[in-house]
Amino acid sequence: MSSRTATPDLSEKTDTDFPLFDQLQSYEHEQVVVCSDPASGLKAIIAIHDTTLGPALGGVRMWPYENEQQAMRDVLRLSRGMTYKAAISGLNLGGGKAVIIGDPHKDKSEKLFRAFGRYVDSLGGRYLTAEDVGIELQDMEWVHMETKFVTGIPKALGGSGDPSPVTAYGVYMGMKACARKAYGKDSLEGKKIAIQGAGHVASYLAEHLNKEGAELFISDIYQEKAERLAEKVNGHVVDADNIFEVNMDIFSPCALGGIVNDKTIGQLRCDIIAGGANNVLEDEDKHGEMLRDHDIIYAPDYVINAGGIINISSELEGYDEDRAHKKASRIYDVMLNILTYAEEHDITTNAASNILAEQRIKEVGHIHSIYSSRSNLSGRPGEIYLRDRN
Ligand code: NAD
Repeated sequence: MSSRTATPDLSEKTDTDFPLFDQLQSYEHEQVVVCSDPASGLKAIIAIHDTTLGPALGGVRMWPYENEQQAMRDVLRLSRGMTYKAAISGLNLGGGKAVIIGDPHKDKSEKLFRAFGRYVDSLGGRYLTAEDVGIELQDMEWVHMETKFVTGIPKALGGSGDPSPVTAYGVYMGMKACARKAYGKDSLEGKKIAIQGAGHVASYLAEHLNKEGAELFISDIYQEKAERLAEKVNGHVVDADNIFEVNMDIFSPCALGGIVNDKTIGQLRCDIIAGGANNVLEDEDKHGEMLRDHDIIYAPDYVINAGGIINISSELEGYDEDRAHKKASRIYDVMLNILTYAEEHDITTNAASNILAEQRIKEVGHIHSIYSSRSNLSGRPGEIYLRDRN
C-alpha cells in the first residue's frame, strides 16, 4: 500500500478540533498566512485583519514565543489594532501584522529575512511590512531585497527613516487637543508634564513641550538618559519608581505598555494622560472606565501615537517630511472629535475612538460597493499606493 492512501480522513473532525477559524471569525480576520521554510529556519505568521480601506500595513515582530498559540494570539491582536489605527487616522490602509518565531539575538540571518520577504511578496501587496520589536534596519534591507512591499525603510533607500520625530509631533498635537478640552485653551505653557521614558519619542516630544514653556519631569530606568534629556529641555529628573506621584497636570507615558492599571490609577493626580507608548491601559475597558471616574482625560494610545504609521504611509506616495508632519498634525482634530463623541455619548474615549474607526470602515466600505471605472483597479483607495510603486 502506498503512503498516499494513509491520508487522514478530515471529514471525521468536528469544529472543536480546529478552533482557529472560530478565532478568526470572532475578530473578523480576513486571512492568516503561515510561512514555513525549514532551510532558512523561518517560522512566521502573517495576519491580515481587514483590507476594506486599503492594503494591510503593519510591522513584523521577531520574538521567542513560548509556543505557537502565543505567537498566533499576538499576531491576531496586533493586526486588528492596526486596522483601528489606520482607520481613525484617515489613512487608506487596512490592518496587518507579522510575527517571526525566534530569538532576535540568536536566530537572525540573511536567508531567514529574505525568505520572509518572499512570502510577503507572494501576497502581491495585500500586506505591506515594516519594522517592529526585535527587527533592525539590516533585517529590513534583506526583506527589501525580495519584495517592494516594505515600508519604513532607510532614507538612503528612498524610505522615510526613523518615524520617532513624526510620532512625537502627533503626540504633541494630540496632547494640545486634550488640553483644550481640559483647560479651555490648547496652550501647554506652564503646565507640569511628567514624561515616562527618555527614549526616541520622549526626546522629540520634550523639545516641543519645552519650546512651548511647559515644566517637564523626566524619568527613565537608565538615570543617565533622563539626566541628559532633562538638561537639554530644562527639565527635572525623577526616579523611575516615583513618576506616578509627581505633582503634575499631564502624564505622558513614552516607555512601555500596561502602566495604567489598578495600582497606578490611585497614584496618578493629573488631568490628562497622553503619550507615545502602545497598550497604555492594562485592561482597556476596565481602566478606561476607571480613568473616566477619576475625571482624567485619556488620549487613546493608537490615536495619539499614529504619527509613526502616518509617516511610513507617506512613503507609499513618495516621502516628503513636511507633508508627513502636516498629516500628523491632524491628530489634533481627530482627538477633539473623539473627546466630543465620548462626551455626547457618555462613554470612554477609547470606546469612542473604536466606534469612530469602525464607522469609517463601514462608510468607506459602502462607497466601494459603487461601481468604479478605474479600469484594472477595483476602486479601493489603497491601490493608488500600489499603482504608484509599479
Ligand atoms: P525607545 O526604546 O527609544 O525609548 C523607550 C525608553 O523607555 C528607553 O529609554 C527605556 O530605557 C525607557 N524605559 C523602559 N522602561 C521604563 C520604565 N519603567 N520607566 C521609565 N523608562 C523606561 O522607544 P521609542 O521609540 O521612544 O518608543 C517609546 C514607546 O512608544 C514604545 O512603547 C513604542 O512602542 C511606542 N511607539 C513608538 C513609535 C516610534 O515612532 N518610535 C511609534 C508608535 C509607538
